Amino acid sequence: MRRKRLLIGFLVVAVLLAISTSAYLYKAGKQETQELSFVDFMKLADEGKIKIVYLNDNSLIQGELVDGTKFFTENPRSENFKQTLLLLGIKVEEGQRGDVFASVFRGLLLVGLLVSFIWLISRIMNKGNAPSYKDPVDKLTTMQCETIDDVGVTFDDVAGNIEAKESVADIVDFLKRPEKFARMGARMPRGIIFYGPPGTGKTLLAKAVAGEAGVPYYAFSGSDFVQVYVGVGAARIRDVFRKAREKGKCVIFFDEIDALGKKRDGFNGGSEERSQTLNALLTEMSGFNANEGIVVIAATNRLDVLDEALLRPGRFDRQVEIGLPDVNERKEILRIHCRNKPLSENVSIEKLAQQTVYFSGAQLESLLNEGAILAAKRGARFIENEDIDRAFYTVIAGAEKKDRSAISKVDREVTAYHEAGHALVTKLVAPENRVTKVTIIPSTRGAGGFSVSLPPDRMYRRKKEMENSIKIALGGRAAEEIIFGKDNITTGASNDIEKVTQIASALVKRFGMGDKTGMLNYDMLHSNRGDHNGEILSECKALVERFYKETTELLIENKYLLDRIAKVLLAKETIDEECLERIMKGEADIHPGSLEQEVEATTAKSAVIA
Ligand code: ADP
Ligand code: ZN
Repeated sequence: MRRKRLLIGFLVVAVLLAISTSAYLYKAGKQETQELSFVDFMKLADEGKIKIVYLNDNSLIQGELVDGTKFFTENPRSENFKQTLLLLGIKVEEGQRGDVFASVFRGLLLVGLLVSFIWLISRIMNKGNAPSYKDPVDKLTTMQCETIDDVGVTFDDVAGNIEAKESVADIVDFLKRPEKFARMGARMPRGIIFYGPPGTGKTLLAKAVAGEAGVPYYAFSGSDFVQVYVGVGAARIRDVFRKAREKGKCVIFFDEIDALGKKRDGFNGGSEERSQTLNALLTEMSGFNANEGIVVIAATNRLDVLDEALLRPGRFDRQVEIGLPDVNERKEILRIHCRNKPLSENVSIEKLAQQTVYFSGAQLESLLNEGAILAAKRGARFIENEDIDRAFYTVIAGAEKKDRSAISKVDREVTAYHEAGHALVTKLVAPENRVTKVTIIPSTRGAGGFSVSLPPDRMYRRKKEMENSIKIALGGRAAEEIIFGKDNITTGASNDIEKVTQIASALVKRFGMGDKTGMLNYDMLHSNRGDHNGEILSECKALVERFYKETTELLIENKYLLDRIAKVLLAKETIDEECLERIMKGEADIHPGSLEQEVEATTAKSAVIA
């Protein structure tokens, strides 16, 4: 098998080689092309000696100097490379260049192949025994594989994320005793996706799964699989799984899966390679016996960009959201990370948790670490408040702009009232619905969050229920308007408005519940003639206007409760079902006495930062 593959490899390389060297020699004769080191390139760029750069995804980029000399250099593939060039006054063109120039590079790449080929041959000569096929593959990729046999991380090292931990608890059980599940004929999920903002502990939790189950952990990053030669990514994936199978049970962690499994949009370069790699992954995943004890955990910052093929049953069919920590979770995370750090008695973890609104776990960890470094530099015995205060700014300055640490006090208040509006309207118009969680912590879906679980599905939905759903959706915007005025309403309600539109138009067009439009299915009529648009529009508008008015009145009547919910939200960031019930019952002393102060403390830092 190996010999045969080797032979095929040999033939392919030989043919490519012949073509490429001749092409290369031909072009090289015609073109003067200079190779620049990246450092030289940047120097020339600084001196204004570079006229144009052709950006692409390849490992080399080309361009032309002001004096007409063509050159090529390493492609740094950094995010703001283009901006850097533009700021230096260099013309940048994107996309492939199909001219002679590009052929030279292809030639060069193939020469690269030749080198590795020769290297392969020399290994055969030297060793005298057959080399393993993956060697040249390893050489061609820059893939980093982290292999840890004993990760030494358990669930105790992961603070918060209770729901996420619960949802992977059975995976741990499965890894420990696959036969128990096999006996029941249960098929365990082969793939799990953790999604959520960066630094929230997705990698940590994957490690903890391996640690709890006592199995080895392999980690890869999706971004390592792109930008390699076609077929290499796929080969590498097969290699990973082959190794994993040899080991038996294990956790394979795939960071940045979106680099590999983004929705196919038709015109992205290199998609051939990507989809080959993705297909290899999916094939391998469906290939292993479900009870072999291999679990693949993937992580992404965004679920919505993923190719649906990844999410189908038998693949990554379990998706677990990992969110930013709320104030209590931040306290826990801080506790975990100050275990080995001598904190001064003056430092209050409690206060620190309140001051680190919208910090991710990673930022909290780095806050304490930076503080420890500063204290060590001072030669102090303990980490003091001023160390942490100074570290604060390092951590925040180091964070990206789009990071949410800088959400202003005003934005938090708007979010708090908006979410409080939804929650309160739900409790007032449809108390049978359970509001399981209200939060002002941003998630991948938007600024705040509000989850309501509707009563068990019945065959029919009543008109009243649909109207209530509209009111609940309008509650956010209505609360904003009541508290901050008509001119200060925000874009935060855009999803709500989408939902309202959907329900209202269904009421009128499909369910025959509009007053004036009557019992007709307008979708059917529309497919013949589209002349009812005006009527439907005015009917929907009238409906929504009426409900908005009613919702606003309801909230004004209960403004005291609205304020309470919003204030508690500002202090605690997340309210659960029980807490909301207590506010509704008028048990205002949820935070005895110092609620107002606490609100102040929580918002103080973020106001400074904003
Ligand atoms: P992600 O994979 O979501 O980007 P990581 O798992 O790499 O985040 O988190 C980076 C570091 O931040 C972790 O190693 C850990 O020190 C810290 N961290 C993040 N979330 C938590 C958490 N929930 N509990 C404890 N530490 C955390
Ligand atoms: Zn809303």
